Amino acid sequence: MAPTVTTLINAESIASRVHDLGAQITRDYRGKEVNLVAVLNGSYVFVADLARAIDLPVTIDFLGLSSYGGRTTETSGIVQITKDLSRPVEDQEVLIVEDIVDTGLTMAYLFDNLRTRRPRSLRLAALLHKPARQRVAVAIDYLGFTIEDKFVVGYGLDYDDRYRNLPFIGVLDGAGSE
Ligand code: 5GP
Repeated sequence: MAPTVTTLINAESIASRVHDLGAQITRDYRGKEVNLVAVLNGSYVFVADLARAIDLPVTIDFLGLSSYGGRTTETSGIVQITKDLSRPVEDQEVLIVEDIVDTGLTMAYLFDNLRTRRPRSLRLAALLHKPARQRVAVAIDYLGFTIEDKFVVGYGLDYDDRYRNLPFIGVLDGAGSE
């Protein structure tokens, strides 16, 4: 039987929260240029909406990271850079844009990695956080929603590369971490 997707956060709620995050970022970085570093693949939808909600000069670069492989939904804890940034970030206000912080291992790795490149500031915007599964503490400066320990898809998030195009965030029945 094909898996079913149950809506967890609808498109209107996402749009409203992303709008508020953009307004907050606009206030916090007033007078500065922000370099959004979007973590591929899952954050491509979030960064597209967030960037348009920020009323400041913005640059966007993309970084490919992988910690999950294929059909599995458990993190391996091993993070690989599959695509590096196309430009240096030295002296820039870098805001990492991530879809979801789960165990925190991916973001802990990325913070360590980017800090060595000497940005002027380094912060994190994450659409979702699953605190139940945290293994490393990660400071999320701009958070969309805190969610329960469910495997979610949609709005950029995938299961085996599918469901990224759903306009809402849903729970995939039959896949998950329970
Ligand atoms: P972490 O290193 O924090 O455990 O994992 C972060 C990455 O795991 C996310 O960027 C995302 O790719 C993946 N991930 C964690 N939880 C989920 C989930 O519920 N759904 C999907 N689609 N990916 C997840």
